[in-house]
Amino acid sequence: MRKIALLITGLSVSVQLLAQNDDSLFIRRIANEILLNGKAYDNLRELTKNIGGRLAGSPNMVKAENWGQDVLRKTGADKVWLQQCMVPHWVRGGKDEATAFYLNAPSKGIAVTRVAKNLDVIALGNSLGTGAKAILADIVEVNSFTELEAKKDQLKGKIVFYNVKFNSTYIRPFEAYRDAVTYRGSGASRAAKYGALAVIVRSMSHSTDNNPHTGAMRYDSINAKIPAVAVGLKDADWMDEQLKKGPLSVSMKTNGHFLPDTIGHNVIGELTGSTYPDQYITVGGHLDSWDPAEGAHDDGTGIAHTIEIMRAFKALGFHPKHTIRFVLFANEENGTRGGKKYAEEAMAKKEKHVFALESDAGGFAPRGFGFEVTDDQFAKIIQWKSLLEPYGAGNLVRGGDGSDIESLRESLKTPTSGFLPDPQRYFDYHHARNDVFENVNKRELELGAISMAALIYLVDKYGL
Ligand SMILES: [Zn+2]
Repeated sequence: MRKIALLITGLSVSVQLLAQNDDSLFIRRIANEILLNGKAYDNLRELTKNIGGRLAGSPNMVKAENWGQDVLRKTGADKVWLQQCMVPHWVRGGKDEATAFYLNAPSKGIAVTRVAKNLDVIALGNSLGTGAKAILADIVEVNSFTELEAKKDQLKGKIVFYNVKFNSTYIRPFEAYRDAVTYRGSGASRAAKYGALAVIVRSMSHSTDNNPHTGAMRYDSINAKIPAVAVGLKDADWMDEQLKKGPLSVSMKTNGHFLPDTIGHNVIGELTGSTYPDQYITVGGHLDSWDPAEGAHDDGTGIAHTIEIMRAFKALGFHPKHTIRFVLFANEENGTRGGKKYAEEAMAKKEKHVFALESDAGGFAPRGFGFEVTDDQFAKIIQWKSLLEPYGAGNLVRGGDGSDIESLRESLKTPTSGFLPDPQRYFDYHHARNDVFENVNKRELELGAISMAALIYLVDKYGL
């Protein structure tokens, strides 16, 4: 009996090894296809250079939707359609400007003069403008909400400067972002509560340049909706230094406002499953991007990855067992209405969603994936580590998916995952004017697509 049991165990081990060998060979074919014939870089160039920034509601959003449909069709989708949703329509409305004024350090015999210095600022997304007249007020700097509360009696009629630095001791910059982004999100309303006229937020970055980084903010329903801008890091450091020497005032002018909600779309392409056509695997990124740049790393690369996976599967004649949906989501940046709509419709149609994967952390070299899954599912996934490692994507961790697929997880309990590229340079570009095509590396982009395609292949083959 024992011999037979050993024999059976041995057999199943070798069957497993054979399967792993098959998988590793097929993933190698995916890799060769993408490295030799890849279109991800060309697609990214088209999206970023021919269209550029494509915020929800903008004319460029419509161009991007048309482009997306066209590319998905040309790439060989069995079916392509637009899924309509209402999206917010915030417009910047003009150039954002700020000038700082200070008195030069008085020394014997020199008259005190007022000195002006331009600051590199950008209005935060969803913020309302100053109106035709600029706001001019003294600056009060704070480094935390605790300090804001401590200084609450000094804020009336002032501009609050949130100089909260990215914590550079975190090895993963997303953790620094998580801590700091609350000041961008709710800093304006918290300062308005004490009578502040506007806020200036240190950019969410630890880069060495002075580019300001925009991004979504939100007003609460209680306090005045005061203007909010982000300032470049060099200017933020300069303001901090200047305030140690004496008072600093800033004149700022912004023009942001909302137009009525408008129609946007998720752009969806599908490869129909051979065995389970009514069970879905979703892979996607978001099509919208902030206006100051081309939305290359955020999230043109996620779009390029998504389309490239379909292209590689078609080129290899691979027929997935499950239906795979390639989704270019609408409005991630200032509303996530696309992701919500996708989940809503999946719920309404009682669709069975097996897995969803998003790429929205840049087009850098792959490191791995984060998973929002059960213990059992994760135990299964971890067995694929050695298959993903050769492409740099062997770091499989719990936690972290993507804003566009989290509604699907929440409403349908779909297991989800986020692609994790190397994160060190992401916040150099994120929502800033330098998030352009030139800052994406072709091979790194391709390796990302390979890793994602490999994971989709494995989930399709083995389920979760
Ligand atoms: Zn993004």
